[in-house]
Amino acid sequence: MNQFRARLTIIFIVLIGSSVLTAGLFMAKMLKDSHIDALKTNMLRELRIIQVTFDWNRGGTEAEQIQYYTDLAIKLKKSADARVTYIRADGKVLGDSDYAASGMDNHLNRQEVIDAERSGVGYVQRYSETIKRNMLYVVVPLKDGGETKGYLRLAMSLGEVEKSIRNVWFVLLAGLLAVFAIAGLISYRVAYGITRPIEQVTRVAQQITNLNYKSRVHIRKRDEIGQLGQAINRMADSLQLQMNRILENESRLKSVLENMVSGVIMIDRDGHIALLNRSAEEILGFSSQELLGKKYDEAKQQYEFTQLIQECFEIREHIREEMIFYYPSERILEIHLIPLSPAEEEWAGLLIVLHDITAVRRLERMRSEFVANVSHELKTPIAAVKGFAETLLAGALNDKETARSFLQIIFDESERLNRLIGDILELSKIESKRIPLQFSPVHLHTFVSHCLNVMNTEAVKKSIELDMQVPEDIYMEADEDRLRQILINLLSNGINYTPEGGKVRVKAEQIVSGGEGTEPDYVRLTIADTGIGIPKKDLPRIFERFYRVDKARSRGSGGTGLGLSIVKHLVELHKGTIRVESEVGMGSQFIIDLPIVH
Ligand code: ADP
Repeated sequence: MNQFRARLTIIFIVLIGSSVLTAGLFMAKMLKDSHIDALKTNMLRELRIIQVTFDWNRGGTEAEQIQYYTDLAIKLKKSADARVTYIRADGKVLGDSDYAASGMDNHLNRQEVIDAERSGVGYVQRYSETIKRNMLYVVVPLKDGGETKGYLRLAMSLGEVEKSIRNVWFVLLAGLLAVFAIAGLISYRVAYGITRPIEQVTRVAQQITNLNYKSRVHIRKRDEIGQLGQAINRMADSLQLQMNRILENESRLKSVLENMVSGVIMIDRDGHIALLNRSAEEILGFSSQELLGKKYDEAKQQYEFTQLIQECFEIREHIREEMIFYYPSERILEIHLIPLSPAEEEWAGLLIVLHDITAVRRLERMRSEFVANVSHELKTPIAAVKGFAETLLAGALNDKETARSFLQIIFDESERLNRLIGDILELSKIESKRIPLQFSPVHLHTFVSHCLNVMNTEAVKKSIELDMQVPEDIYMEADEDRLRQILINLLSNGINYTPEGGKVRVKAEQIVSGGEGTEPDYVRLTIADTGIGIPKKDLPRIFERFYRVDKARSRGSGGTGLGLSIVKHLVELHKGTIRVESEVGMGSQFIIDLPIVH
């Protein structure tokens, strides 16, 4: 831009300078011409006066004539202040104010003389070799009745004229320099005035290019530049608006993408990984820094997965596939590969969506296993009922004693079947969370002694001692029916799996989980027995559905294998935890921690 300004300034200066120079030249020429014209007129007038005033026909010898005219010329020079020469008609000089006429050559061929003879007056400017000056010569012929008798010549040096022309030049040059300086300054100002707004507009445009959308042009002029500035401002406004919209959309899309449960990966048309959301990072076990920009086949992914992407690149169709991934942990993934605009020309790469369906598949497996388990559990008592009924029908009825014991078995098995179905229904109800808990304050002492009363008959039958250790002042919030279910289940297990003469004890205490000095927030219930205990290897599994340590032993006790599973679910519904400690032959204890308030 400065270049432009400099160029503009130079153009202005050249324009102004050349016009001043031309004017100067023109003026000098005019001045000189008018000077010389005036000089000519004067000299001619003087010549005319001299012509008529003196006698130009003097007789005598040539030497006398020369003497006379030379004297006259010298005299005339004094008043005319010019060299005076008298030339005879044949060109012989008879008198000269400055030089000796006798030594001068013939003047007939002098241009001024020829001109004077031809047109009555002759003017010539010539450099005089004799006096080394520029001279103006004016000649008039001296006529006598149409015959030329001689020529009278005045010569003046042009030194004066030239000097004054030189002065004019000097003044002109000085003036020119001053004008130049002023013109330069003004030109610069003018150029600056023109270029500054352009510079500003350029600067703003530059800043907008550099993504500074807040930059604006501040020109209040209403000319074209001002309009340009306003147009730029409007453009910046709209750019800023659009950019804000784009940014807003981008952040929206980003937050959608980042909070999606599914993994999303985008691969561009050249096979480079262009986008990767957080879920995809988690699922693949790689951070986006490690993957972004890499080619998909260089991204250290499972071979089958890379193959699948390759396939989608080739066929450019939606592919859905289930695949087991082993890194970073074993999971089942549902993979969708979606080509982005499959048309050949607009092929923009592909989108990969990953769903972790491990949990879904596990649940499906569990459900089918549960159905298989339930069928199996139901089959056993039904087979027993059916078998004994058949035997009775086949004639065993006649033997009263046998018939009675068979009927007892049928009764027991159907009772078991009933319990089993009841437990299954209960468990499915709890699992599907269809029973909302009804919390109410429970006074633990009263509650536990009531439960022990319920179990007393059972215990007495096996001469097992029931015992409780519950402080009087413990209250807690719980669904009383469900809490009773928990306790009765554990007590009945305790009685069931403890040989005669053993002990089952319930203990309750308050627990402070926060730091010292804070209020107790948990109640710990411990149900301990002195029974047969549970082998170490079975401990982690006894809360599973239908899990029994020893099928034969459990069946003998009438268990369904669902009791502990139900207990665990109920405890979790109360936001509590349950764990078991046991030693074979010594006894077991179940420890439940429940929050006091909900
Ligand atoms: P069950 O109805 O068979 O008792 P549970 O789910 O209540 O089913 O218990 C699962 C298994 O855990 C039982 O089969 C039994 O082997 C074992 N078990 C439960 N409670 C005790 C206990 N107090 N002492 C020893 N074993 C126990």
